Amino acid sequence: MTDLIVRGGVAVLPDGPTRVEISIADGRIVEIGPDVRGARDEIDARGLVMFPGLIDVHLHFNEPGRTEWEGAATGSRALAAGGGTLFFDMPLNSTPCCVNAREIDRKRTALEAASITDFGLWGGLVPGSVPEMAEMADRGVVGFKAFMCDSGLPEFPRADDATLYDGLREAAKLRLPVAVHAESEALTRAFAQRMRGRGVRDFLDSRPVIAELEAIHRALLLAAEAGAALHIVHISTGRGVALVAEARAKGVDVSAETCPHYLWFTEEDVERLGAIAKCAPPLRPKDDVQALWRELVAGHVDIVASDHSPTIPERKAGDFLSAWGGIAGVQSTLSVLLDRGYHGRGLPLERIAALLAAAPAQRFRIARKGMLAPGNDADLVIVDPEQTFTLHEDDLKQRHKISPYTRQTFRGAVRRTVRRGETIFMDGHITASTGGRFVKPFDSLRSLTASL
Ligand SMILES: [Zn+2]
Repeated sequence: MTDLIVRGGVAVLPDGPTRVEISIADGRIVEIGPDVRGARDEIDARGLVMFPGLIDVHLHFNEPGRTEWEGAATGSRALAAGGGTLFFDMPLNSTPCCVNAREIDRKRTALEAASITDFGLWGGLVPGSVPEMAEMADRGVVGFKAFMCDSGLPEFPRADDATLYDGLREAAKLRLPVAVHAESEALTRAFAQRMRGRGVRDFLDSRPVIAELEAIHRALLLAAEAGAALHIVHISTGRGVALVAEARAKGVDVSAETCPHYLWFTEEDVERLGAIAKCAPPLRPKDDVQALWRELVAGHVDIVASDHSPTIPERKAGDFLSAWGGIAGVQSTLSVLLDRGYHGRGLPLERIAALLAAAPAQRFRIARKGMLAPGNDADLVIVDPEQTFTLHEDDLKQRHKISPYTRQTFRGAVRRTVRRGETIFMDGHITASTGGRFVKPFDSLRSLTASL
């Protein structure tokens, strides 16, 4: 007799949606099949679809040090309400930033106390932190994050080309990927000096597509030369994704990430919503959004992550140009892909599962996560793909109820989130009674030798 059976639903397996039952014991999936034996507890999933729990590889919960902006307690609840069971926190905007092992330890302790979902950590690649990377790798970071332009935080300076190249070479030795925010500092700085009092338009013009393309191009060259794995975060354009796909075809070890906001909103929404929709790279014109979708449907985007980057309400009010850039959308990723992807473009459900769970686990070498399979952690999200809902501020579990997604209507709703066998979110409410665990990449070489 196992602990739990999920009955009557359709599971999104790698080969496609399949009507099966899933039995769970001690937080793991024991069996997936058409006719699974009894358990102490049952979840009735008739009419519903089960995905592997979302793995959000890119977000900012700002803990420790800036929890007035978010915090892992509220942030992980919002993630769970969106179907997430694991996240990787960026080395900023917590403060001090995670650029050495001591700060990794501090963050791990803080998140173990606060998060209801499992979590992993990114280390920071900034000028001076290359000698710290080996020790951060020992602590179990999933990779290293660098900015090619100003990060918006003075305590996390951008990586100049020499720092980036040295960091890529060190990361190659450590067998960990480097993630880059790819926008050209030279171009964005020069264009920002041309601003002439037009607010939103000035901002959009200061961060054009070419600034992203130039930086992606340079990062690909440096990573190829260093023999490093590269992950390009929040690519905002189809042309950016296409550059990555070309490099990959030539053998560069690179993965492409985009965010739900680049798939849902356009630059017209920035004009309409103001600073709530301000982010970098910025939201793009309609044609660019369509091109990004075409690249995604063609299979050239590997991972979709939220880049949830909230702040206090005061920093989103007032003058647009000085407002904080960052979109707080951690709860909406799956609904965006169900609505505009599955319903809007016929994107198969198993492709959505790959973008949000399987590819993140594979790229960052997280064992027993990312797929509904016997032996894996029982991380799953149960959705009603047909349910239409409008997101209201009261629905948001994040600290500040500020998101461009409020008042948007989606077809495809999260009903229940299960993390290691425990229901942590159900029908609008957080139900978790235990906390999240720290996860780190497995070392395939070490596990290979161990098995010999
Ligand atoms: Zn970010």
